[in-house]
Amino acid sequence: MARRTFDLQKKVTQNKVGSIMDIPHPALLRHSDPHALRSQFQEVWGIPPEAVVLPVTAQDGLLFKVEGLGEPFSPYATGYSSKLRDYQDIVHAFAKDGLDIYLLIDPTLQFVGTDALHIVDIVGDGSAQLCISNPRSQDVIAAILGTGIDIATEVTKKTEGKLKGVVMDAVNLWPMGAQNKRLELTCFCPSCERYMEEHRPGLIRQFKTFPNPWNLLLKDSGTGISSISEIRSTYTAHDIVGLSRQKGFDEVFEDRSMPFLLEQAEILLNYIEVRHDQTIAAISDIFGQALHDLDTSPRRIILTEGSYYDWTSGIQLERLDYPLSERTSPYDEIWFDPGSTELLLHYTPFRSYMWRRARYYIDAFFNTIGNATDPVKRATTGIARMKIPEVRGLLKSRLSQAVGTAMTGYTSLASLPDIKSDSSNSARIGFVGVALARENGEKLIEGLNIPPGLADNSPAAKEDDPLQTLLRMMASQEE
Ligand SMILES: [Zn+2]
Repeated sequence: MARRTFDLQKKVTQNKVGSIMDIPHPALLRHSDPHALRSQFQEVWGIPPEAVVLPVTAQDGLLFKVEGLGEPFSPYATGYSSKLRDYQDIVHAFAKDGLDIYLLIDPTLQFVGTDALHIVDIVGDGSAQLCISNPRSQDVIAAILGTGIDIATEVTKKTEGKLKGVVMDAVNLWPMGAQNKRLELTCFCPSCERYMEEHRPGLIRQFKTFPNPWNLLLKDSGTGISSISEIRSTYTAHDIVGLSRQKGFDEVFEDRSMPFLLEQAEILLNYIEVRHDQTIAAISDIFGQALHDLDTSPRRIILTEGSYYDWTSGIQLERLDYPLSERTSPYDEIWFDPGSTELLLHYTPFRSYMWRRARYYIDAFFNTIGNATDPVKRATTGIARMKIPEVRGLLKSRLSQAVGTAMTGYTSLASLPDIKSDSSNSARIGFVGVALARENGEKLIEGLNIPPGLADNSPAAKEDDPLQTLLRMMASQEE
């Protein structure tokens, strides 16, 4: 008897369409050529990629010259292999094989050292990543993305593959920290405060105290922040108080009467709404600048986590889902991970990003690489107290953390929401797989040129327990 076909196989076949391969760091091309990455993708997903995602920056610098920007070049801007000398070569190598190109920007641009553009937490401490709401930051981000668009358009003039889309990596725009139960959310820089004062006068003042409305849904767990993110767009203050009580987060408040908690919840819902609007407005401004005057516009894509409200991206996912005819949308497509919820969009086209928490752990891994290889950071930040082998150890643990959250294989494809069709109410048009695995990640770590830090040079620094340093660094990463 011939082998029969089961629903699982039908589902896998239906779900395999719209495949895109994300290459999160150009360094991966020093260890695997484009063909090797494509076969690796095919092996994992049973289908070759139709398109490839390339970053327009590395964590430690630019990958190509941007007129008017004096920022440093990344050591990964050139010299990938004898055939791939620079950024143009990479774009060309994939496009000539018929793969369409998507350009991704991580707008936090941690290599930009201008304090005035950096994010600031609620108590006024800054961190080295750009605030996307600052108009001057937007100029920088848009100039880099826009230059990348011009390069890719030029390089793909005669190739079969074309520039298809631009992706805003929005997973960690508003990082959070905590100290002694006090939550330190970002960003409250002058541009953010101005936006919030204009749109919700008096709101910020409500958060400059402890406990404050955030404490209803966020809690310092000692090693990071525990958060409640199932905040649906239809939720009322009653729902928020219910969630908080269920998890016991409300215990931090002295006054736990219903009227008081409801008032706090109302303020919290206002914060979430205004942060969402601010985030989308900033992304829209950046896309607007980067895409102005183009003959054909690439698709504008937002990459975020697949939770109802993502605290570090500031986005309430359901609010991005409207019938196309009812909006003048600042985006064309959304990518998010299918891991934590059954959430799907009915109207806005979306792809499933096959990694839990989307780019969150991947970006954390590559940011640690950026810090480890930067001579200045090796002399001035927490990582300065670690010896070279310890840095490699830290990188390997970050890699394991990242790889441990990957989704791979046919079973995860089979469980995705339906592909858009006349009979489905899902607007999913494909999936994105990531070209990072334990093997090429380890090769990358081995190949890194890590400059000596304080501990390698000074005997006095040895008194610092490296394990403690490592634990501190791990703890500073949000859960
Ligand atoms: Zn800000």
